[in-house]
Amino acid sequence: MKESEKCMEQRRREMVDALRCNGISNRKVLDAFLKVERHRFFPEDAIALAYDDGAYPIGFAQTISQPFTVAYMTTLLVERAPSGRVLEIGTGTGYQAAILEALGYSVFTVERIFELFQRAERLFARLGLSVACRYGDGTLGWKEEAPFDAIIVTAGAPEEPSPLKEQLAENGCMIIPVGDRRSQQMTVVQRVGEEFRKEEFQQFVFVPLIGSAGWNDIGKGNTD
Ligand code: SAH
Repeated sequence: MKESEKCMEQRRREMVDALRCNGISNRKVLDAFLKVERHRFFPEDAIALAYDDGAYPIGFAQTISQPFTVAYMTTLLVERAPSGRVLEIGTGTGYQAAILEALGYSVFTVERIFELFQRAERLFARLGLSVACRYGDGTLGWKEEAPFDAIIVTAGAPEEPSPLKEQLAENGCMIIPVGDRRSQQMTVVQRVGEEFRKEEFQQFVFVPLIGSAGWNDIGKGNTD
């Protein structure tokens, strides 16, 4: 193993220790964070920062989420849907999708920015991951592949998009940050028969979910 790779592995272990100190205790989740090489998903000129517990700009006014946030959402998902098909909205770099694949899920992901979609699709191929990617408005879900055991939305929404609720399997759950443009409350919606049960967790700050069942594009008549 090359010296630089050893160093990355060491830094990854430190990141996982930090996650544990911050309250992430699910063994399977921590193992996935040890396995997935976050630096592969990071902008090349900033690889040295790949294992810091922070969000980082990835271009197009978007960010790769903070490891703690990814771990927090992944834990909520694993606890409610331990296996099956997962739909992610907001591919970004592809890191969250790779974590889900490492956990054994069949992963589907949708991104609305073409360049990010293309970059992630190429990266998945290069890393040998079998994540299915789609370019488009994820607030509409991925009807042809529904139903999903879990849906994870990695951008902040004004409310839970109804097309996504409809694409949940019986007992399926959706993990989604809901709030205004400035901050959002992590929310879990579980489908029980024709009912949707809601649980609310701590506050986070996400880039906006933009689409027909999300926010309008910036400058196009937001009332926020
Ligand atoms: N999960 C990503 C980080 C997400 S940042 C990662 O692991 O790197 C949020 C992403 O959501 C951005 O890439 C943004 O373009 C995307 N996004 C916002 N609204 C969307 C929509 N309606 N459909 C699909 N993607 C959307």
